Amino acid sequence: MAQPLFRAPAGTRDLLPPESARRRRLVAVFADLAERTGFGLLESPIFEDLGVFQRLGESNDVVTKELFEFFDKGDPPRHLALRPELTASVCRAFAEHRPAPPWKIWYSGPQFRYERPQAGRYRQFEQVGVETLGTDDPHADVEVIGLGLRFYEALGMKQVRLLLNSLGDSESRPSYDAALAAYLQSRRGELSGQSQLTLERNPLRVLDSKREQDQPVIAEAPLMADFLSGESADHFAAVLAGLDSLGAAYEVSPRLVRGLDYYTRTTFEFVADALDTAQNAVGGGGRYDGLVEELGGPPTPGIGFALGVDRILLACDAEGAFAAAAAPVEVFVVDTAGGQTAAVLCDRLRQAGLGVDRAFDGRSMKAQMKRADRSGAAAAVIIGPDEQAEGAVTVRDMRPGGGQRRVAETEVVAAVAEVLEGEAQ
Ligand code: AMP
Repeated sequence: MAQPLFRAPAGTRDLLPPESARRRRLVAVFADLAERTGFGLLESPIFEDLGVFQRLGESNDVVTKELFEFFDKGDPPRHLALRPELTASVCRAFAEHRPAPPWKIWYSGPQFRYERPQAGRYRQFEQVGVETLGTDDPHADVEVIGLGLRFYEALGMKQVRLLLNSLGDSESRPSYDAALAAYLQSRRGELSGQSQLTLERNPLRVLDSKREQDQPVIAEAPLMADFLSGESADHFAAVLAGLDSLGAAYEVSPRLVRGLDYYTRTTFEFVADALDTAQNAVGGGGRYDGLVEELGGPPTPGIGFALGVDRILLACDAEGAFAAAAAPVEVFVVDTAGGQTAAVLCDRLRQAGLGVDRAFDGRSMKAQMKRADRSGAAAAVIIGPDEQAEGAVTVRDMRPGGGQRRVAETEVVAAVAEVLEGEAQ
């Protein structure tokens, strides 16, 4: 009977080489920038107590509809959830460990949301991000946002725009929320059914709707900018001035609100023009001032962002940026004398720090040379019965017109190094 063919679950993907290596390289670029900006890595669990994520807000889909939740085998069982994002975990860790502020943390890893899978929208996707906890200095906002911009630049992306807004503080928000709710109620009938439901739960989130039908209503909604307290307005002006001083381009986008409820003051999104508008958000973040407290910690302001690795790579593809790198194989060992010598030589060359591959199954010289060619290696080390009888190997320069020479087996590392040095010139 035929066995069932399993596939990766809906909304998830296997990342095969070389794409998987390209991702790891992208994360390494981010890690390097973040570390040089004074951020340290936080590795937190992939699942947390459900309550950690419930603090993100009761009106957002990520928490109400998209969590992967489960009970463990404890007695009584614990109600847990796979993380849908990392800011809540960072705040939970801050509340738990109470590090000295400001606490500057970067992270990377998979997130899980039960969304409708489509291009650029997955149920398991990867983010990189930073959070600065314990300061509300606008320069911290500028540092975080600037880091995001420099990261896209470092990848060679040219079509990323920064959209910015201020969502005000606990002083300005209630009067804005009331004005917005009154306005949206007055035009309720023109909104999509979905937005009418959102309106009941959280009027602000209606502004986040991408549905065509809602756009005329959204376009005429009251603006947060007209309701900002003096303090919030000054904070926002300082953030913009800081970005100006870095020569950073941005667009103030007065109707920008973001998915999660906890944002206050600075809010921003990075948009890739190379992608379709439905999935063109390649990152976003903002300031949140109540989340650590909600998780049992002291009142602690915070600012951070999360960038979507999957979408960034799609945008890179569309822009022709950050290409997949050549395989790291520098030397290919071809052994037609039984394979034992290949094992020893591969080991020796790898210990010398080189990228080395070989063939298996006692294939013919021709088949092995074909593989050597395809590996992209600049040098081949060949051991046939003649070489073996002499305790020698043939080292071949694989570039067009490259020569070859026979050397004692003990000289193999030096001879290969010579070929590779020739290639570097
Ligand atoms: P958020 O945590 O919702 O602010 O998302 C931050 C970034 O993560 C977005 O700008 C996207 O680039 C990415 N992202 C969010 N959800 C998904 C998803 N389901 N699939 C792929 N990327 C996502």
